Amino acid sequence: MKVFEVASAGAPAQEAERPTPDLTGREVLVKVTNSGVCHSDVHCAEGFFDMGDAGKAPVESLGMSFPLVLGHEIVGEVTAVGPDASLSPGGEKFIVFPWIGCGECGACAEDRENYCTGARRNLSLQNDGGFAREVWVPDERYLIPVGDLDPSWAATLACSGLTGYAAVSKALTTEVDRPIAVIGTGGVGLSAVVLLKARGHKNVVAADVSENALKNAEAAGATSTVLTTGDDPVKDIVQAGGGKLAAVIDFVNNTVTSSIALGTLGTGGKLVGVGLFGGQLAFPTTVVALQQLKIEGNFVGNLPELRELIELAKSTQLPQLPITEKPLEAAEVNAALTAIEEGTISGRTVLVAD
Ligand SMILES: [Zn+2]
Ligand SMILES: [Zn+2]
Repeated sequence: MKVFEVASAGAPAQEAERPTPDLTGREVLVKVTNSGVCHSDVHCAEGFFDMGDAGKAPVESLGMSFPLVLGHEIVGEVTAVGPDASLSPGGEKFIVFPWIGCGECGACAEDRENYCTGARRNLSLQNDGGFAREVWVPDERYLIPVGDLDPSWAATLACSGLTGYAAVSKALTTEVDRPIAVIGTGGVGLSAVVLLKARGHKNVVAADVSENALKNAEAAGATSTVLTTGDDPVKDIVQAGGGKLAAVIDFVNNTVTSSIALGTLGTGGKLVGVGLFGGQLAFPTTVVALQQLKIEGNFVGNLPELRELIELAKSTQLPQLPITEKPLEAAEVNAALTAIEEGTISGRTVLVAD
C-alpha cells in the first residue's frame, strides 16, 4: 500500500510502498479519503519537540522512529476487515480515532487511551498515519461513522476538535458565569471557544496577541476579548472576565502565557496546559498552595470523548473553521507542512483523495 513517508528528521514526505497487512481479529484497513494536516505533524517531521529549559526532545524519546507516516486527522472507507470484525468493506465514511494505546494497561481498560502507560500505538506517531492511500487500524471500534458531516471538517475533529473538547471538559465548572479564559485563539483555541459556549458556559474570555485571532474568537461567541500585548495582561483578563478566573485553557502554554494564566486564577482555579510551544512554568508556589490552584495538562482526548464530540457536531450547528482542500499527494503534504510552519495558513488544510 502506498504511503507518503518522512524518511528522516527534516526530510520532505515522499511516496513509498508498504506491504499490505494480513488482517487478523477485528483489524481493518481504511482507504484514506480525507486527511487533515496538523501543527504537530510539523514538529514530528522536524524530529523533535521543544521542552523549554530541558532542551529539545527527539521524537524517538516518544517511541517514534523514522521513517514516519504522519497525519492523524483521518476519514476514510473500509476496504478490508479481519475475520472477527462486524463491519464490511463499503462506501460508508468513518472518522478514525488515532490516539490508540497499548490495549492492556489500566488506562486503556478504562477507555482513557491518551493516558496509556504501555506501548502506545498512536496513528502517525508510533504507527503509520493518514498521509497514505490506506491506513491500518488495529480494531474496528476506533471507527465512528461520519454520517452527514462534511468529511474534511469531520477529519479535523479527531485532533484539533478532540483536543479542544477534552481541554474544555477539564476546564468546565458548574458555575457557568465564572470566567474561563482561552489563551491563543488560533485553530484549536477557537474550537475551545465554540465548545465552551456550545456546552453551556456563559463567560468566555478570549486572549491572544493577534487582533485578527480575537476577531475570530468574538465571531465564534467569546463573551469578551483581550489583546495580551498590554502592560498588564493579567489585570486585563481579570477585568474582562469580571473577576478572577475559574479556569484558563492555554493553547500557547509557553513561559509567558502560563505565568499570565496562573496569575488570573481565583481560588481553586485550574490551568489546563495544552500548547506545545515550549517554555518553563515560573510562579510563586505559595500562591499555588493558598489559592489551591490546579495545573492539569491535556494531550488530545479519548475515544468516548470523540464519540461525544461527533454526536454534538451532528446534533448542533457548530461553527466550522475555514478548510482548504488539496489533493492527497506527497507534494501537497510538504506544501501544507511548510505553510503551517511559516504561519501562512489560516484554518486547516485537508488533503483529499480522488
Ligand atoms: Zn494534531
Ligand atoms: Zn495502555
